[in-house]
Amino acid sequence: MQAHFADVVVPVPIPKLFTYSIPTEIADSLTIGSRVVVQFGRKKSYSAIVFRMHDTPPEAYETKPILSVVDPLPIVNELQLKLWEWISQYYICSIGEVYNAALPAGLKLESESRLTYNTDFVTETQLPERQEQILNFIDEKRTCTISEVTQFCSGFNPLPQIKKLLELEAVYISEELRTGYKPKTDTFFSLADEVCDNEIMCQWFNKLERAPKQSDTLMAFIQQAGGMSNLKKGKQLQRSEIAANPNISMTAIAELVKKGILVSTKMNVSRLSTSTTRLEPPHELSDIQQNALDEIETSFRTHDTTLLHGVTSSGKTEIYIHLIKRCIETGRQVLYLLPEIALTAQITSRLRRHFGDELGIYHSKFSDNERVEVWNKLLTDCKYKIILGVRSSIFLPFSNLGLIIVDEEHENSYKQYDPAPRYNARDMAGVLARFHNAKVLLGSATPSLESYRNACDGKFGYVSLKTRHAGIEMPQIIPVDMREARHKKLYVSMFSMKLKDEIDRALRDKEQVILFQNRRGFSPYLECYRCAFIPKCINCDVSLTYHKSTNQLICHYCSYTVAVPQVCPACGTPAMEAQGFGTERIEEETKAIFPSAKVVRMDLDTARSRKAYEQIIADFEAHKYDILIGTQMISKGLDFENVSTVGILNADNMLNMPDFRAYERCFQLIAQVSGRAGRHGRRGKVFLQSRSIENPVIQNVITNNYEKNVEEQMHEREMYSYPPFTRLINITLKHKNLAIVQQAALTVAQQLRAIFGNRVLGPQEPAIGRIATYFLQRIMLKIDKRQRPEKIKLQMMQTVNSALANPNFKNTVIQIDVDPY
Ligand code: ADP
Ligand code: ZN
Repeated sequence: MQAHFADVVVPVPIPKLFTYSIPTEIADSLTIGSRVVVQFGRKKSYSAIVFRMHDTPPEAYETKPILSVVDPLPIVNELQLKLWEWISQYYICSIGEVYNAALPAGLKLESESRLTYNTDFVTETQLPERQEQILNFIDEKRTCTISEVTQFCSGFNPLPQIKKLLELEAVYISEELRTGYKPKTDTFFSLADEVCDNEIMCQWFNKLERAPKQSDTLMAFIQQAGGMSNLKKGKQLQRSEIAANPNISMTAIAELVKKGILVSTKMNVSRLSTSTTRLEPPHELSDIQQNALDEIETSFRTHDTTLLHGVTSSGKTEIYIHLIKRCIETGRQVLYLLPEIALTAQITSRLRRHFGDELGIYHSKFSDNERVEVWNKLLTDCKYKIILGVRSSIFLPFSNLGLIIVDEEHENSYKQYDPAPRYNARDMAGVLARFHNAKVLLGSATPSLESYRNACDGKFGYVSLKTRHAGIEMPQIIPVDMREARHKKLYVSMFSMKLKDEIDRALRDKEQVILFQNRRGFSPYLECYRCAFIPKCINCDVSLTYHKSTNQLICHYCSYTVAVPQVCPACGTPAMEAQGFGTERIEEETKAIFPSAKVVRMDLDTARSRKAYEQIIADFEAHKYDILIGTQMISKGLDFENVSTVGILNADNMLNMPDFRAYERCFQLIAQVSGRAGRHGRRGKVFLQSRSIENPVIQNVITNNYEKNVEEQMHEREMYSYPPFTRLINITLKHKNLAIVQQAALTVAQQLRAIFGNRVLGPQEPAIGRIATYFLQRIMLKIDKRQRPEKIKLQMMQTVNSALANPNFKNTVIQIDVDPY
């Protein structure tokens, strides 16, 4: 029995599915997960995904038919669709938005504006000459792009005329669909059928006597193919393979093709590099590590999720490798999640050594075409047994997951902020695992309070590793009181004398140094020393960051950029001074203070691309530089042999973040950065510079007391009802008009309070009250952990929507963030 209707997901932020009728011609080729083309709105076509099929016509509207099916097989499986639905409900967004986040752009169809002649168009009056010309051109072609019209009208700009024609409805804009993914091709060479005979081949070699280059090339070609017998069986050689052969000349190959001895064919090839190196077995585990591995496996018998709490360099990654191996031996897949910045060539090559081509990588810095290939491979031949990827890899078409590893589970880059879906991949890993009947291993040296509490409550299993591998000691943390250093004048620039002396020593001993500062740019702001004026962004409520190398002031929220003013814009004095230190300034001063050292900087400005990023790491690894200066980017997962000394230049700007997680984050970040020191051989030293040494977090970092820090933070969170003791939902309202957004927020808060009472906080202006020309107001809803969140979310959304239906609040944008992180 064939279904007559299909509910499809359209990639638009409208919170429902749309029903289309299934024409009988395509009914056979349609399944759940199929990609189809549908008309949506008046003239727009979209590619959509079939979510379910049924026989119930919608009551409210007449259905349109599905126009066509794009691929022979579905591109999404049912488990993926289940995850999409789950995410859209939990994070309060549309399935269309999840679709947008889930699929690489190349699998969504791109629209391109096209003009189509309206065959019903009639006119009594004569059109102006130019409009007539354009209309005739479009009529002749039936449909063409605006750029084609522009070409035709060389000499004048056709846009005003096109606009007129659109107004007259003589033409309309249609959206042409085309796939973004372009397979990569290469040329392959094989022997022509007629030549697949030893006798004929001999004749050819005779004929080629006077063209030695060609006969040499032909000989080398046969050799590279492994002999005539292989070529007779149809063996083909890829251009890139033979081009590397010194005995083969590509011009001679072209001649041989011309003569009909060789045949060339263009074929699709993979962009994904494949390795040919021999695979190594995993390292043997130490007793302590083996114990931990056994404990994890025991824990998996009674828990779906287990937390591996292991100090930096304890061998967590080694344990993952053993677990992965065991899982894929049972024929199931593994997903290994890493935060964006930790996904480096280092970890890739480490896994590649053990798993070779069974490892697939899914990285946001990959080109979209590469991502489409990973997707398609998982969908079809399933050579991949392990995917190493960033948060969006939870959306890949897995068919049979056995294990999901979430490394550095406390990292906030697992959470997507913008746009919706604002999901946390760590938490969704648990949901995905449930669908597959798989296990989850969360790993961290500094687990999040959420996961730690789940472990204490017995919801998660818990395994800990307290010592570093091979008996290497944890780094020694040396606090440096910067108030005292300033007072006694024991500093240069950002360096206390203690840190400076230690860097001098490290450089003398040919050791490497890492300096950490979590601010990029030259200085966070400029200030006029005469009138104290500070240049601010015109779109946002923040000061502009000074970038000296480009001589610009840049807004780190909306990218607004201006040249540095010569004189103070307020008082006209040439007195603008750089205040505070960003990585760029630290680089400049480090070079001046340590003139013999080779210095490199890694932050968003120097390492925007994957290539640049990996180059810096590789060069530092090869000791082409002595000192690496960087932001968060350098804190994760990097393993350098020769780093003995780490300097944290200013711990205070981490403590002073306006966020209830600031102290937790500060501890995590310092522990992570410190973990880069002394991973091999000698004990590392970390110099922690701060003006608030007595702060309890700094004290806990110095004594490396994670448990004490967690205890203190838990206490605060419980007292003030923050996660992990409650769930939070942030409702942010945005409008270009301050008065409107304030009024709207007050109204929403009032109506929410009528239902939820004092669980509603705000409205309040967030720390940055205006971003990209929008004024912001925030309301926070706290949900009791014992209550069912579904019901509360529903009530909440009904209330918000009805309050904002007031025409006075027109154009107010709402943004919902469930479990903000
Ligand atoms: P973590 O992931 O906990 O930071 P790693 O797994 O990266 O720790 O281990 C730190 C270093 O010690 C790595 O260079 C790793 O290769 C090495 N190592 C850890 N365990 C072993 C082992 N059992 N055998 C050999 N080398 C090991
Ligand atoms: Zn801005």
